[in-house]
Amino acid sequence: LDPDEFRRQGHMIIDFLADYYENIEKYPVVSRVEPGYLSKCLPDSAPSDQESIETILHDIDQYIVPGLTHWQSPNFFAYFQTGFSIPGMLGEMLCSGFNVAGFNWFSSPAATELESLVMDWLGKLLDLPTSFLFSGHGGGVIQGNTCEAIICTLTSARDKILRRLGQDSITKLVVYGSDQTHCSFQKAARIVGIDPQNFRTIKTTWSTSFGLSPDSLRNVIYSDIDRGLIPLYLCATVGTTAITAVDPLTPLCKIANEFGMWVHVDAAYAGASCICPEYRKLINGVELADSFSFNAHKWLLTPLDCCCLWLKDPSALVKSLSTDPEYLKNEATDSKQVVDYKDWQLSLSRRFRALKLWLVLRSYGEHNLRNHIRNHCGLAKFFGELVVEDGRFEIAFPRHFAMICFRIHPSAVIDNMTIGHVLENRHGEAWKAEEVNRLNARLLEAVNASGRAFMTHALVGGIYAIRFCVGGALVTERHVAMAWKVVQEHANSVLASARH
Ligand code: PLP
Repeated sequence: LDPDEFRRQGHMIIDFLADYYENIEKYPVVSRVEPGYLSKCLPDSAPSDQESIETILHDIDQYIVPGLTHWQSPNFFAYFQTGFSIPGMLGEMLCSGFNVAGFNWFSSPAATELESLVMDWLGKLLDLPTSFLFSGHGGGVIQGNTCEAIICTLTSARDKILRRLGQDSITKLVVYGSDQTHCSFQKAARIVGIDPQNFRTIKTTWSTSFGLSPDSLRNVIYSDIDRGLIPLYLCATVGTTAITAVDPLTPLCKIANEFGMWVHVDAAYAGASCICPEYRKLINGVELADSFSFNAHKWLLTPLDCCCLWLKDPSALVKSLSTDPEYLKNEATDSKQVVDYKDWQLSLSRRFRALKLWLVLRSYGEHNLRNHIRNHCGLAKFFGELVVEDGRFEIAFPRHFAMICFRIHPSAVIDNMTIGHVLENRHGEAWKAEEVNRLNARLLEAVNASGRAFMTHALVGGIYAIRFCVGGALVTERHVAMAWKVVQEHANSVLASARH
């Protein structure tokens, strides 16, 4: 490695990124390229001779940037944003710079020990029960994503019960979630060998604000037991993907505990908010669960990938996932004094992800991290007020965190359509509801096509709503107000066009 050349190229990349962020608002938020665009711009095989960083950066600017959807744009209000901050980004650089594969303690002690330390720090910030911390005989691990966290915990739950009942019982194991549980749960269950017929998706309704109803869970469990099946695992969600609904943890966990099931709490998005006491109460009951995860790479200023998973009994994970090949044998492992994180995850090699989280926690401090969450919730509330002020719109689902689900109010659509003599008696309620949904979908499409803001949608309880999620590190009140203006402008034209 030539240190001077490394410095020169490194500075160029930092300059490139600094310019990118300086100009990020100039790009259309959603990329406008057509599928297959890149193969028309770049050669179809790797170069035979080396190319300069200048040439490569030129191509990034010309061909890659236009194909980006700008997730860090302050006008990005779609999905759940990916975490971003200067400390987080620099932590990633350090991680790649050291490039250690800390699969066990011996392979890079600092990687393991910092991860354990940071997971306890973060667990304390979230006020997790001490039983989830290393200092309380539990422990935390950084996974790539929630799907991996669910696969690992579901595997442990499966093996724990099969060790007792025998392998043949696998066909009888049943897992439970709601119709709002993230699809990664279904994928995990498939991978872990749960019979697809034993995957329970319990319907949610308005009566529980689309949280999982404890009564419904109990009824489904009873009916499964009556059929000779074995309840295994409940995935409860705090902050569902579509509308940030919250499953009531305490009653759900009590039921699951009664039947000896494993409970995993998926707070992928909303978990970050639990560093604020006013949101922490939403995970009350977590002390009765077996595992808890959230993605620091969503709302805690940490770049992808960083899913934080805590367990009360990490040995259950180790029993299912440990391997012991000759080439990894070492005294530290034999002493049983160390954590070998390879046995807490799917893959062997692992990145030094704890560094970026450590940088974020230290560079911000508890106080500023809380301000970050509260600022976003305040901006979402502000957006909600703008929605309510305009009589043509309504908030479609209750706000819990920093996301507003809104839509053009059915009455605005129906009034509008009556003028256009489309609405006639032969059209029933279902037709009207569909028409309202279609109009809102058209509005969202128009907003996104403008390039000035990016939002996504949810379809829950038959209602199509536009999701406006505040999560970007660069977003300010000005961006929120501007996004609302874009919505209003397009609502005018969408409603006008529906009249004809
Ligand atoms: N769970 C919830 C509640 C989510 O909202 C998401 C993604 O948005 C996931 C799980 C999936 O997370 P990952 O991409 O880390 O697997």
